[in-house]
Amino acid sequence: MSSERKQNIVAIDGPAGAGKSTVAKLVAERLKYFYIDTGAMYRALTLKAIKEGIDFKDEKALVKISHSADIQLKRDKEGNLKVFLDGKEVTKSIRDREVNQHISLLSKIKGVRKNMVARQREMGRKGRVVLEGRDIGTVVFPRARYKFYLDANFSERVARRHREFISLGKKISLAEVKRDLLRRDRSDKLRKVAPLKKAPDAVYIDTTCLSIEEVVERILDCIRGDLRKR
Ligand code: C5P
Repeated sequence: MSSERKQNIVAIDGPAGAGKSTVAKLVAERLKYFYIDTGAMYRALTLKAIKEGIDFKDEKALVKISHSADIQLKRDKEGNLKVFLDGKEVTKSIRDREVNQHISLLSKIKGVRKNMVARQREMGRKGRVVLEGRDIGTVVFPRARYKFYLDANFSERVARRHREFISLGKKISLAEVKRDLLRRDRSDKLRKVAPLKKAPDAVYIDTTCLSIEEVVERILDCIRGDLRKR
C-alpha cells in the first residue's frame, strides 16, 4: 500500500503495564496530537455495567449499553486525561479493581467491540491523533502511518501496575495484581475478536529496561526519521 494512502495516526498497542499510557500521552503532547486512551473507553463501559447491575454473561445487555453509554475523553488545563461517563467524571473509578476483574468479559464481545471501534474511528477521522490500546494497529486503524507495539517482561509489568495502584492510594498485594494481569493478558491475547497481537508492520519496543523518556524518544525518532524521508 502506498504511503500516500496512510493515515496521519500513531497507533500504540501492547499489554497492560508495558508503559503505553504514559508514553502515548507524552508522544501526543510533543507532536501536538490528540491523545485517545481506548482502554479508558472499555473501562467506562465496564463501570456502567457494574453500576447498573448487569450480569456479565448477558451479552445482549452489554451490547445495548455500548450503544447508549455517553463516554467523553477530555483534557484538563495540565493536559491530563479526564473520563466522563453519562456526564459524570469517572477518571479514578474506572481504575478500580472491580473494573479490572470484569473488563475482559465485556471487551471480548463482538457487538461491544464493533461499537467501540466505530467511535474510535470517528474520533481519529481527521488524523493527528495518538491512540493506544490492544487492536489499534490491527483493527481500528490498520492504515495508520505509525505503529508501535510496546511490551515488557511480566514481572516488570506487575511491579509497574502495583506501583500505580499504590500511588492512587489503593491497597492491593503484588500477588493480586499478578493474578489480575495474568487473567487479563490471557483473555486479551486469546479472545476470538481482535486479540492483542503485534501488527506485522508495527515497531516492537521492549520497555523492560528503558525509561519513559527513552521509549518516547525512540518513537519520536522513528516518526521524525520518516518525516525527513518524505
Ligand atoms: O489499556 P487498559 O489496561 O486500560 O485496558 C483495559 C482493558 O480494556 C484491556 O485489558 C482489554 O481487555 C480492553 N481493551 C481492549 N481493546 C482496546 C483497549 C482496551 O480490548 N483497544
